[in-house]
Amino acid sequence: MIGKIHSFFAGGTVDGPGIRFVIFMKGCPLRCLYCHNPDTWNQDGAECYEVDDVVSQALRYKGYFNNGGGVTVSGGEPLIQIDFVIELFKKLKKYNVHTALDTSGIIFDKDNLELKAKFDELIKYTDLVLLDIKHIDNDEHIKLTGKSNKNVLEFAKYLSNNKINVWIRHVLVPDITLNDNYLTKLKEFIDTLSNVSKIEVLPYHTMGIVKYKNLGIPYRLEGVRTPTKEEVKHAKYLLGVIKDVA
Ligand code: SF4
Repeated sequence: MIGKIHSFFAGGTVDGPGIRFVIFMKGCPLRCLYCHNPDTWNQDGAECYEVDDVVSQALRYKGYFNNGGGVTVSGGEPLIQIDFVIELFKKLKKYNVHTALDTSGIIFDKDNLELKAKFDELIKYTDLVLLDIKHIDNDEHIKLTGKSNKNVLEFAKYLSNNKINVWIRHVLVPDITLNDNYLTKLKEFIDTLSNVSKIEVLPYHTMGIVKYKNLGIPYRLEGVRTPTKEEVKHAKYLLGVIKDVA
């Protein structure tokens, strides 16, 4: 089983609990306006690795996985290579390694029975899903990413029904997601789920712009500012992450 991989990062501390070995997979069906990894969008130039090679690399860092650390698969969108991720997680669990999946959930399709069976298999070996809900409003989700949020929200419900631990991630972008109405609706949706142990508000940043320049891709959020500390606090308050904004 071969995986098409962009890169590895040993020592990650932001993609799940503890210290993590992070695997960035190549390929993504979304085109988020704020994406800071446009170099993962297509699979050109991917490095190809066998599952066993990746497991061996990850296990070199097992000594650092105390305090809840482990392996995170990110991207791009890792689930366009779901067969690889299933095999990888299955093997990592044999070594008792904590597994986290950083995904937009976009490829979930509850009506596709063949794919659904793969998700049923995947979650047997997945300890945590970092689910990136890009926008709670469907029209705005389409404008922001190019696709509907229907599968994303269905995936969130599926994870809840199956009691898989989830952290919700939400990027805060002025004029796009930084909006009381949308944040309140997102909180209402999250409150319908039974499995969310953390909500992460990620302030929009412009660190990826240089990659667009290097790739010759127009950056469509040119001129959009980063949110202020007060706006981030306010969003965290609306999402129930903090109890007051003082
Ligand atoms: S899902 Fe992630 S990798 Fe894909 S376009 Fe959006 S931010 Fe970029």
